[in-house]
Amino acid sequence: MSEHVIASEELWRLTLQHSPVGMALVALDGTFLSANDALCRMLGYDEPTLCSLQFQDITHPDDLEVDLHLLHETIAGERSSYRMQKRYVRADGELVWGDLSVALLRGDDGEPIHFISQILDVTATRSAQVQLAEKTALLDQEHRMAEAILDTVDVGMVLIDADGAYQRMNKRHHHLMRLAFPDGHRGRAGQLGLVFTPDGTTPLTPEQMPSMRAANGEEFDDLRLWVGDDPATRVALSVSARLVRDAEGRWAGAVLAYKDVTELIRAIQVKDEFVASVSHELRTPLTAVLGHLELLADREDLPADAADHLRTVERNARRLQYLVGDLLHVASGRGGVRLKRREIDIAASVAEAVTAAAPVAEASGVSLAADLPESLVAVVDGLRMRQIADNLISNAVKYTDAGGSVRVSLRLVGDQVQFVVADTGIGIGAAEIEHLFTRFFRGGEALARQIPGTGLGLAIVRSIVEAHGGTISLDSTAGEGSTFTVVLPHVAA
Ligand code: ADP
Repeated sequence: MSEHVIASEELWRLTLQHSPVGMALVALDGTFLSANDALCRMLGYDEPTLCSLQFQDITHPDDLEVDLHLLHETIAGERSSYRMQKRYVRADGELVWGDLSVALLRGDDGEPIHFISQILDVTATRSAQVQLAEKTALLDQEHRMAEAILDTVDVGMVLIDADGAYQRMNKRHHHLMRLAFPDGHRGRAGQLGLVFTPDGTTPLTPEQMPSMRAANGEEFDDLRLWVGDDPATRVALSVSARLVRDAEGRWAGAVLAYKDVTELIRAIQVKDEFVASVSHELRTPLTAVLGHLELLADREDLPADAADHLRTVERNARRLQYLVGDLLHVASGRGGVRLKRREIDIAASVAEAVTAAAPVAEASGVSLAADLPESLVAVVDGLRMRQIADNLISNAVKYTDAGGSVRVSLRLVGDQVQFVVADTGIGIGAAEIEHLFTRFFRGGEALARQIPGTGLGLAIVRSIVEAHGGTISLDSTAGEGSTFTVVLPHVAA
């Protein structure tokens, strides 16, 4: 053998020894004949110990059969090499994953001599793969659950991206889309369809479409609209939109929820019609009762006790008339209050309201004080102004316990009329304040104390104030009292 050959064999041995990939020569029965450093490190054995073992001893039992099968096929000449991923049991008992490539070295006569094995440690890759598979399975599961929830809820749901393109839609919404867009939808926000404002007749413009508003970055709740033009099948919807942000907080799109409120809207319509017709029917006989009561009251020949009874009847009939008036007001005033403006001394009108409330305040042990100017003349609807004062003052007295007080004040501040009714009564919780001006709403405390009422007064007050171009605000703390402030533009004669 020449020196050159020896040098190259040595070089080859050194190369194997220092290769970062595990290498071994393995006898036909599986005994390790030699192993490089990388393999020894991977398996946790020194070379002499490893060479006292067969690969069968350190192969995970579950992977052994496949390995042996491939090995025998190779010896039988059915294949010249094989490759597989398998688990080894390290000296310390830990498992490592190896990517094994095996080639069979045969002599010149073709007889098998030994195997050359190359084993790459792929434990990290395998565990990353396992983790990835687990995460993917979890994501898949969550995705299925989200889909199931989306398709179960009785609310149409749509996801649009930041460009207004429809990304996802649940089953319920497909039905609504067919109603709104019988000729098909191109999958972009803002397409015109059979979508109408709450009055049911005016079609929405592209900018008014909820999808377009959401695509423009707007969030909203309870946007009412009708879809479909057939009265038998059209649906009233309440739409909410929320923006969706990506992991970096950038705006990525929006989710829209379409809730079917047809039944509710129809029930409200029926209730309004019922309230309107009942109060209308009640008004005529009540007017007759009051007219005849006045005639009777004018008679001189009534016994004293009969006159007393008549006054009680009249007081109650007037209360009924007031109530019927309130009901008619809310049932008919949906399109706004029609005002009959004239020049009125509001100070005198408020003074009358205070005087009218005084007996009830006194009977309830509530002190009632007023701070009014001599006169404050403005062009307003006098009857309606009186209604505002009556409602706020009677509420203040009604919702204040004995020993409390009510203060009424009226001032001209710049070019605005400011009317304030403050009490030291039961107050209103923060959660209820926003509902207070809704028709038929009654506070929890008012209900709990069984204080009589209809929940109409404040709704009426607000509609009158707004018809005058004014505002009403409330400052209240539960248990401490409330201050209602009405501000009206001062329209002078
Ligand atoms: P009603 O007094 O007939 O119930 P309103 O519309 O006048 O109807 O008032 C609505 C609700 O607001 C009342 O039921 C009550 O809970 C609350 N409220 C109104 N005024 C006051 C007040 N001054 N103090 C406390 N609660 C009030």
